[in-house]
Amino acid sequence: MQQARPGLGSELIGFEQAGVVFPDGTPALEQVDLTVRAGEFVSLVGPSGCGKSTLLRVAAGLQDITGGYVQRGAARLGYVFQEPTLLPWRTVRENVALPVESAKLGKRARYQRADAAIATVGLAGFADHLPHTLSGGMKMRVSIARALTCEPELFLFDEPFGALDEITREHLNDETTRLFAERRFAGMFVTHSIAEAVFLSTRVVVLSGRPGRVVGDIAVPFDYPRAPSLRFSAEFNAIAAELSELLRGGHR
Ligand code: ADP
Repeated sequence: MQQARPGLGSELIGFEQAGVVFPDGTPALEQVDLTVRAGEFVSLVGPSGCGKSTLLRVAAGLQDITGGYVQRGAARLGYVFQEPTLLPWRTVRENVALPVESAKLGKRARYQRADAAIATVGLAGFADHLPHTLSGGMKMRVSIARALTCEPELFLFDEPFGALDEITREHLNDETTRLFAERRFAGMFVTHSIAEAVFLSTRVVVLSGRPGRVVGDIAVPFDYPRAPSLRFSAEFNAIAAELSELLRGGHR
């Protein structure tokens, strides 16, 4: 198993022998050892129901562990869910400004911050639109912009592009690597797609079937931002093949 690359920044989340058993007795995670440091983008892959979302929820402090330890080092979190979860009666700008509404900022400052995030995700010009007028990919961009307004140190993504068509998904993957190159938040990204995991990440962590344990931790050495053509390189496909092998072994 490969460890995090040396020379990276501080630990933003650390799990040590962490486990989760739900109150009904369902064991979701078992003895998970995993650390994510500043400058890392770590994808989590594993069979359906192996505890990936649960691990993100633990990282966010939304779910308690029932065994082991978790160390949370990030002051600011971003969380993007599988669904865009936008308020339908609010405009794009009003949705994106939501997380900073409780901050001691005037409306003008809040909207400035929202507009900057909206521009970052390529939606300048759509700030006054209502969610129902946007495509699925655009709604997901709004959801990412909303998380960006918190200026996250640790950005948690729970399979955000899984419901999108392949072209839109690849486009958003390209943009996510650009965003990561610019902002250098640490990322934890849940996905079912091996190609998406390799394309986005500095490391890919493979979980076994439920209860999820870490059965592989593979470094991905390519620089950011990543060119779309990377997906067709021999080195990319060798890493994808290795992950695929680990995933097959992880089923039980
Ligand atoms: P994944 O994201 O890998 O698909 P989840 O983390 O969503 O998996 O769920 C892990 C397992 O825990 C699944 O079998 C799921 O059915 C179960 N589970 C999730 N939440 C609860 C809960 N609140 N109570 C009981 N079981 C749960």
